[in-house]
Amino acid sequence: MITARGFDVDYGRGQLAGRLDNIGPWVALTQPEPWERLGPTLPAAPEQIIWAGDLRPAHLDSLIADLPAEAALVGIGGGSAMDTAKWLHHRTGRTLVQVPSLPSVDACFTRMTALRDAGGVRYEGDSVPEVVIVDFDLIWSAPRALVSGGIGDVLSCHTGLFDWALGAAAGRDAPWDEEAAARGREYLDDLEVLAPLLAAGEDQGIEMLMECHRDIGWLCHELGHARFEEGSEHFWAYAFEHVTGRTIMHGELVTLGVLVMSILQGNDPDRPRRIADAAGARTDLDELGVAWSEVEAALVRLPSFVEEQRLWYSVANGLEVGPEQLGAARRALRVLD
Ligand SMILES: [Zn+2]
Repeated sequence: MITARGFDVDYGRGQLAGRLDNIGPWVALTQPEPWERLGPTLPAAPEQIIWAGDLRPAHLDSLIADLPAEAALVGIGGGSAMDTAKWLHHRTGRTLVQVPSLPSVDACFTRMTALRDAGGVRYEGDSVPEVVIVDFDLIWSAPRALVSGGIGDVLSCHTGLFDWALGAAAGRDAPWDEEAAARGREYLDDLEVLAPLLAAGEDQGIEMLMECHRDIGWLCHELGHARFEEGSEHFWAYAFEHVTGRTIMHGELVTLGVLVMSILQGNDPDRPRRIADAAGARTDLDELGVAWSEVEAALVRLPSFVEEQRLWYSVANGLEVGPEQLGAARRALRVLD
């Protein structure tokens, strides 16, 4: 198991209640669903609840004037809650505590805020929380499929590392860094171990997965890029969102991307399939409410999409998408003819 570097983290049960004793007035930056689960268990009500969702910088900045004086910022929920809290911390310097509600949430371990601006995503700011609280009760109270879906952004190292090697060999983008690549391979080894623990509802599965996210956040900051964990599987996911105009849970979408792209890379596709199944992650298109035609449209669009968006070099560049490749993708996702 890796020894993670990165932000301070507190694993346990009900820890936020204790923290609130000495935090003073506080504001919750949250979403209805996790708040319903955690809010009633807390001894002190927040001065204010801010519902996260709108990540346009103009909106976030408009919240600052109404913040109660001296109140600490406590993000509780998914990525948008973490990002809202991070941005307000960046702008005001208030105390920041992050409480992720799912183990897919790496936004609590990254320093920049993913702002939505001019129809795209822009990363800005630099926020380090006082502590990240991982409350096992809060996480296990979420639907189990969403918990298992948390593997996606670690599983992506499988295809991301392959694409990084391709890009480095082609003299494109970030040069190869063997130490970072070795780290990426260790995360995947950890995933093999933690996947069945996650499926069995063991706290250790959550802790190991969050430790991977924590170290990934640290490594991204150290390297200044995320090539070891972001490649054609993410690009396919972005293409999916582009052609369908919708999305599904990020970790689940990225997991589909890893299954499809690893087979097209000729890169041991059995391994991510084995891990996803062991973790109990949903990969069945019907179960995910995804049509094969959407997967296919995203794949057909992918080669031109990566050029237009100037995404990092990967197997998607110049990829021929014909009957053979589509057949392979169908096999990877177990789509019956
Ligand atoms: Zn991701």
